Amino acid sequence: MNIVRLVLGDQLNQNHSWFSSVNDDITYVMAEMRQETDYVKHHIQKVTAFFLAMRSFKEDLSSKGHNFLYYQLNDKNNPQDLEQIISNTIAETNADKFEYQLPDEYRLDQQLQQICSSLDIAHDHYDTEHFYTTRSELKDFYTGKKQMVMESFYRMMRKKHDMMVQNDQPEGGKWNYDQSNRNKWKGQPPIPKEKEFIKNVDEIIELIKNANVQTMGNIDSKSFAWPVTREECLSTLDYFCKQLLPHFGDYQDAMHDDEKFLFHSRLSFAMNAKILSPKEVIAAVLDHFYDTTTDINISQVEGFVRQILGWREYMRGVYWKEMPEYKQLNTLKNTNTLPNFFWTGNTKMNCLKKAIGQSLDASYAHHIQRLMVIGNFSLLTQIDPDEVDRWYLGVYIDAIEWVEITNTRGMSQFADGGIVATKPYVSSANYINKMSTYCGNCHYSHTHKIGEKACPFNSLYWNFLAEKKEHFKDNQRMNMMMALLNKMDGNKLAEIQERAAKIIENPDAF
Ligand SMILES: Cc1cc2nc3c(=O)[nH]c(=O)nc-3n(C[C@H](O)[C@H](O)[C@H](O)COP(=O)(O)OP(=O)(O)OC[C@H]3O[C@@H](n4cnc5c(N)ncnc54)[C@H](O)[C@@H]3O)c2cc1C
Ligand code: SF4
Repeated sequence: MNIVRLVLGDQLNQNHSWFSSVNDDITYVMAEMRQETDYVKHHIQKVTAFFLAMRSFKEDLSSKGHNFLYYQLNDKNNPQDLEQIISNTIAETNADKFEYQLPDEYRLDQQLQQICSSLDIAHDHYDTEHFYTTRSELKDFYTGKKQMVMESFYRMMRKKHDMMVQNDQPEGGKWNYDQSNRNKWKGQPPIPKEKEFIKNVDEIIELIKNANVQTMGNIDSKSFAWPVTREECLSTLDYFCKQLLPHFGDYQDAMHDDEKFLFHSRLSFAMNAKILSPKEVIAAVLDHFYDTTTDINISQVEGFVRQILGWREYMRGVYWKEMPEYKQLNTLKNTNTLPNFFWTGNTKMNCLKKAIGQSLDASYAHHIQRLMVIGNFSLLTQIDPDEVDRWYLGVYIDAIEWVEITNTRGMSQFADGGIVATKPYVSSANYINKMSTYCGNCHYSHTHKIGEKACPFNSLYWNFLAEKKEHFKDNQRMNMMMALLNKMDGNKLAEIQERAAKIIENPDAF
């Protein structure tokens, strides 16, 4: 029986049971296609990373004897569309059966179901063998519960997978060391330089340009540094465990003018493309932690495990529970448009200049930059979540809808009305100043609320609370903020709101 098996660009799991033995009757098909380069305007480094990773995956498995049919973007016979690619491959190989791995995106899931319904040969689908949870596990876990608080899911996962748990109790005495993950980085301890894998990617850039694919952001085509092969990703994981993990938790939320990556792992692309599995990442980190020759505090390790076993699996579960309605949610009815500086980084607000500039230059920003700088500003200026989503989905190398939209529309923009976050992640300059060096180098004063030099975040923050007051009146977690708002002198609030209105009207002037 001849079988065609589809491998999508984010299904680069070499350890999948599909590849455990070579079978000459099976043809694997992969394609660089316009359908995928064009559904949003991606960062140039993101497109480059996916093409390089896909090619390397195909090379590795071909060299082990598996049959591959690979369409490069500029191949004359590349139909650029998934349905056509599948039907052409079936015809070419005279296949009796079509098989695919379940996609992680709703869009592709629907498309593959539709394609299969019109095939006149047998078809089947398989799990990706990547995640800890199935698509519906989170939904089942929260059935009958009032709120989907991540912490309870995380504890269940720790117990279920027997991870840092002894007799059902957390190792070290605490389930969560979040409180100790909040230090500002002041130059010490030294940050090891990021692991780079320098490549000349001129050929791929030319391919993308010649095809007229619209992209965003910048790239140095002579020295593309992201890990994209299995070997490079494993080496990045090893580097993380040995060099960065010892301080990961402490500085997880810190931001610095001159440091893009701090102690972060940069493993999200490797995991989201499934080059590395979350299980092998966590196993490597725990092995390193339990190695008697290392002396790493449990808070560093727990902080990392929580992101992957907790947040990453939680976001995937929320996505499959809430889609497709989730994509339409706009609870706060925000309708403004993104400022131009999201595409240039040109703004006098230093925190945004740095966080957006870095996103455009490196296709990377860490969690707190995404949440408390860029996302915070977007929410305070009441930007349409569709616009915010499109930007986030395009700009980051790790952005795939299942993990992008839940973080952006949900956690960061509160557009889901509190499914993911129990309160909106908004702050004045106070938080940004506490966690970063940005304010010290800014045109604006982080302590002032009004006047030409006052930090825009300050007036925007109080304006947001005042404008959305009705919406949050029953949210207990907002009580303290609302009490402070209610105590504010009316004239002062009016002045603050006047300034906020000017910023919202023309953010590019600030
Ligand atoms: C508004 C917003 C948008 C985001 N969009 C994405 C996205 O498109 N893709 C993406 O992978 N992550 C996204 N995140 C989560 C997080 O910012 C990135 O996973 C992280 O910055 C990637 O860098 P790292 O690998 O160095 O992470 P580290 O800080 O080293 O963390 C380790 C790993 O934990 C996982 N992780 C951490 N936080 C989260 C989270 N909130 N949700 C899911 N996984 C998490 C990631 O796999 C990450 O690689 C977003 C966060 C916010 C606030
Ligand atoms: S003062 Fe305001 S705008 Fe400037 S860096 Fe601080 S928070 Fe950002």
